[in-house]
Amino acid sequence: MSHERIYLCLAHMSGKEQDFIKEAFDQNWVVPMGPNVNGFEEDLEKFVNRREGAGSLQKSVCCLSAGTAAVHLALLACGVGSGDEVIVQSFTFCASSHPITYLGATPVFVDSERDSWNMDPELLEEAIKDRIAKTGRKPKAIVPVALYGMPYQIDRIMDVADRYGIPVVEDAAEGFGSRYDGRMLGSFGRYGVLSFNGNKMITTSGGGALVCDDEESKKEILFYATQARESYPYYQHEHIGYNYRMSNICAGIGRGQMTIVDEHIAHHKHVQALYKELLKDVEGVTLHDNPSPRYDANFWLCAVTLDPDLKVKGQEDAYKTIITGAVGGAAGVTHAAKSATTDCQPNANVEAMRVALDAANIEARPVWKPMHKQPVYKDAPAYVNGVSESLFKVGMCLPAGPYVTDDDVRYIVDTIKANIIA
Ligand SMILES: *Cc1c(COP(=O)(O)O)cnc(C)c1O
Repeated sequence: MSHERIYLCLAHMSGKEQDFIKEAFDQNWVVPMGPNVNGFEEDLEKFVNRREGAGSLQKSVCCLSAGTAAVHLALLACGVGSGDEVIVQSFTFCASSHPITYLGATPVFVDSERDSWNMDPELLEEAIKDRIAKTGRKPKAIVPVALYGMPYQIDRIMDVADRYGIPVVEDAAEGFGSRYDGRMLGSFGRYGVLSFNGNKMITTSGGGALVCDDEESKKEILFYATQARESYPYYQHEHIGYNYRMSNICAGIGRGQMTIVDEHIAHHKHVQALYKELLKDVEGVTLHDNPSPRYDANFWLCAVTLDPDLKVKGQEDAYKTIITGAVGGAAGVTHAAKSATTDCQPNANVEAMRVALDAANIEARPVWKPMHKQPVYKDAPAYVNGVSESLFKVGMCLPAGPYVTDDDVRYIVDTIKANIIA
């Protein structure tokens, strides 16, 4: 029996996107600014400023060409420059840390705590103290990451950051619509990063945004996002800028997406709840869940861990062949793998389960490989407790997007069960 392929998180349109795009064409606003950009920013501001049981916030939002660009400009605005250090969660996608290097600065990786899988506040403080002792200078920013949409312990992280006077840049690229204590991720730190890439909670095909404290700081981000031009009748440059503004066409897609964002989030939570129910008696498979009622994850992707003792069909053959494609649908743009294995990889039972799900037309993938284990960052300082490395060995992401039906979840769980050797 063949099943139509089930993807991790496919973009899903409301139908209104095309109306906003048509308007952009009709009014000849096919440029990186315009009414859709303004409208999308207003929608986003309303969204991130919502707060349960308290007055609404006053954050401003600046739309950019990508979440990666948002990280880059947030760091720039925090004064990060050549020779500086920035503390960043190690357990993340590379876009959290790469922009640190774009600025000539060095990432200092901090490991995770077991509950949320995100930045460990105790280790964060240890890292700050040690960096000050070793370099005589404070790190310039702190970047926690909402892995798979799960909130970080932002109250404790902000407490440490405030005590040392270091700004926080929240990487909420995966956590759009997730809340901690009823407040939206991205609204706690000096800056909050959002992503609207094709596979995130909502999409603009590609795009991102930066949540800023106020209009003033948004203006500064806008300045750097549009090539840093001084107001003369000719192009006068006193700073280095970037071409990072969102296009009015992409923003039109975003406005359409905002009409269904709450439904999307509710659907992801529904899928998580169904996995929880169906996996509860499956021994050796544990679903990553909100650690306490203070957390309200969007469950962008649902993640499980496989007990190292769990026997999965075919695990003796895992990693026998070199992969020619790449996880994340990136076949064709990746370098060819030089080997079938590396010195830090998921356990054989996890890889066997991924292969088995793939054969059943279900897209699954390992959790992010910690940055402190990435060859490109081998020389960067890292403060580790073993949590992210051990989760990388046992973790796996399962489909959770808007197209995943109840039947799909049942099929996915049945396929997992069928590949476990009792
Ligand atoms: C997707 C993502 C980003 C970057 O977003 P893009 O819009 O793809 O540039 C940053 N950080 C994390 C953790 C992400 O998952």
